[in-house]
Amino acid sequence: MRAPVRFSSVALAAVAVFAFTALYVSDRELARSPAMTTLRYGLWAMGAATLIALTLALVHERRLTRRVAERSTELERLSAELLRANRAKSEFLANVSHELRTPLNAIVGFVDLLRDGVYGELQPRQVGPVQRIEASALHLRHLVDQVLDLAKMTAGRMEVHTERLDLRPFVLEVATEVEPLANERGLALSMAIPASLPRLRTDPSHLRQVLVNLLGNAVKYTTEGGIVVRGRIMSGEDAVAPSLPPDGIWVALSVIDTGIGIAVDDRERIFDEFEQVNAGPRGDSVRRGTGLGLSISRRLARLLGGEITVESEVGRGSTFTVWLPVDPVDAKAALLRASGQVAAISEVATASSRRDP
Ligand code: ADP
Repeated sequence: MRAPVRFSSVALAAVAVFAFTALYVSDRELARSPAMTTLRYGLWAMGAATLIALTLALVHERRLTRRVAERSTELERLSAELLRANRAKSEFLANVSHELRTPLNAIVGFVDLLRDGVYGELQPRQVGPVQRIEASALHLRHLVDQVLDLAKMTAGRMEVHTERLDLRPFVLEVATEVEPLANERGLALSMAIPASLPRLRTDPSHLRQVLVNLLGNAVKYTTEGGIVVRGRIMSGEDAVAPSLPPDGIWVALSVIDTGIGIAVDDRERIFDEFEQVNAGPRGDSVRRGTGLGLSISRRLARLLGGEITVESEVGRGSTFTVWLPVDPVDAKAALLRASGQVAAISEVATASSRRDP
């Protein structure tokens, strides 16, 4: 599409006035010689034709401007309508999810009581079905919670309550929660979090949700080998997330697995809502997942001022990294603490080498 030529009305009027003055002056000069009459008529005809052409161009330009203005107003209206519809959808989802949670909690609670024998010992034939009801109800509640979280985040209503967090004990506690799952599948779960990592100012419940999801996925998509949770301090320049500002300091918490891996083409789309690449077997609703975990985790990480990235190799495993911002003051304190530890270690080493010549 060619862009329309735009004329300014003022410039056009100025050109017309200038051209007609020049025409008038030349006409007076030419009027002295009768032989120039045809030329004079010709000049006036050209002048009139140019004026008509310029006027038509001006009218065309005006019409275009009006049409663009009308389209902009229409676009603004549509975008406002879209926003309203999106908000209504999020509110509807939030309300429905909230209403679903109450009866679901009752189901989970009563099944718990049934399984614990509060209403009498279960017959051996009943144990299996009760366990399946419990697993399905828990799965459904997890799904409802995820939809609720997503709706809240879309509506910008997810709250963040930050506090200072010591990462090592925190990650250990989260990993302990997931350990039984890993053990069940014969996977080794280990941690490499240096004590010298700086403290973070972050929302522990959101970070816990992200880590539980990443660890849960690592267990789900790994059949043999193990899972490592590694923590490092990184400068923005070393960060592999292009969206992170290069002048920041970050703690990079990685969940590394030796699982099935993710193909290059799928590495971005797995972060979209309801996207699944290797969903579990159809009948196994618990292992099938929802395709919402990574989408929520990435949004939560961004809400905490960070990001989630993934590196992977099909058949060899994946590394999901949560990047969390570190306050420069805390980073400096951690650095001092670390250098103090190094100094203390070297003092001990020197003292012992003095004792054993
Ligand atoms: P789901 O509930 O399906 O696990 P997620 O949003 O957590 O939903 O993950 C989306 C998809 O990303 C999964 O279906 C899976 O294909 C892929 N995925 C996530 N984590 C891993 C992993 N550690 N290894 C391999 N694939 C993974």
